[in-house]
Amino acid sequence: MGRDALMQRLEAFRSDDLDWRSGRVWAYVFDPGEEASSLIKEAYAMYLTENGLDPSAFPSLVKMEREVVAMCADHLGAGESDDVVGNFTSGGTESIILAVKTARDWARANKPEIVQPEMVLPTTAHAAFHKAAHYLGLKLVLVDVEPETFMVTAQAMEDAITPNTVLLVGSAVSYAHNVVDPIVELGALAQSRSLLFHVDGCMGGFFLPLFRDLGRDVPAFDFSVPGVTSISMDLHKYAFAAKGASVVLYRDRELRRHQIFSCADWMGYTLTNPTVQSSKTGGPVAGAWAAMHHFGREGYLELARVAAEATDRLVAHLEGHPDLRLLGTPVLNQLSFSSDTIDVFFLADEMKARGWYLQPQFAYAPSPANLHICINPASTRWMDELIADLDASVEAVRGKQVSPVVQQIDGMLAQIGKLEPAMIREMMKMLGLDPGEVRSPDATLNQILDRLSPQIRNAVLIEAFNEIFT
Ligand SMILES: *Cc1c(COP(=O)(O)O)cnc(C)c1O
Repeated sequence: MGRDALMQRLEAFRSDDLDWRSGRVWAYVFDPGEEASSLIKEAYAMYLTENGLDPSAFPSLVKMEREVVAMCADHLGAGESDDVVGNFTSGGTESIILAVKTARDWARANKPEIVQPEMVLPTTAHAAFHKAAHYLGLKLVLVDVEPETFMVTAQAMEDAITPNTVLLVGSAVSYAHNVVDPIVELGALAQSRSLLFHVDGCMGGFFLPLFRDLGRDVPAFDFSVPGVTSISMDLHKYAFAAKGASVVLYRDRELRRHQIFSCADWMGYTLTNPTVQSSKTGGPVAGAWAAMHHFGREGYLELARVAAEATDRLVAHLEGHPDLRLLGTPVLNQLSFSSDTIDVFFLADEMKARGWYLQPQFAYAPSPANLHICINPASTRWMDELIADLDASVEAVRGKQVSPVVQQIDGMLAQIGKLEPAMIREMMKMLGLDPGEVRSPDATLNQILDRLSPQIRNAVLIEAFNEIFT
């Protein structure tokens, strides 16, 4: 195919995608604005073909990674200490998988009596920790959070510690409710029990120090807190780097050593990798380096200020709203809200019909079904419209009843004994769901999924994904 025909085809593929350029998609995309965006794109493309597989082949990539990591360490309370080290990764998930792998292998070296290592984490901790445990063979010990604040208590975490525990986890901020766990208390707990303690700053790590500089109330959460041994922080969120950009940081290199994998036992080159990927493009690290140098501290501070002020307006509106209820007290420029009078999944559909995308989140005790909003600096000029449409949408869905299909669900669930894939597919067909269809879930689908237990929801979605990618 020639260039023009090919590009046309690619452009046409986008027709069903969320139109994030409209400024009305308040999830998934962290838009740095057009000028920064084109600059980051150029930097990314410049290093697209360089390979991070071997640091000696392309020292430019090592230099950029060192500088990005150093800036992040400085940003996260490393202070005068040169001890904090880390690596650039492809995203929050990879940073978290690596932190968990490091903890597991640290325990193998330092606590060899532990055969089945355990990780203690709040139910608000990101699903990536579950994925890490799943991949790496750790046992998860989940701890309930407080129903009003959605924060875990150090006491509840302490009660979950066993002789097999190797790692504690806290969030700054949690994705679902945008709150910071009591990191100082958890750090003290980790120290008193000789455990590692990871702070998930994927979402919040970058903006929290800036929000503090803006004079807002931000609790201590970083390496300035004794007992914090590792932190993950995404740059492809509020540092506005292109996707594929995160860092994982460790208090010192004694700990980080356990992250690095090396294999000399084969006939090819000796493969030594600090991260999960082996061959990898230099694009993301160049893009992140460019973003950070373009905005600088002052630039980011201004982005944070704009986002914070817009958030205050939305928070004030929600707090005074008769039908909508803010969940927890958001620390950053994102929030979740629920309703006791209307169905939030209908509300999401109604907003979508008006061009807005808000992210539905299912109920998980004590959190009711809710909608999640990221308030990006580039979108803040639409805040008046968002608020007006939110109010109008609440009225539009008031009194709306769920469809009979959704009501069928409860009866079906009662009949399910063992979860065979064939049965799940049958159930999905009865509900009029085509397992292989790619579509953004509407209210009916969300209402069905919300009624399923986490176990059944996982099974249903695994069947769907097994069909989608065929
Ligand atoms: C986004 C996020 C992650 C996972 O990061 P990905 O970049 O999506 O892999 C982990 N923790 C929190 C709190 C997040 O917001």
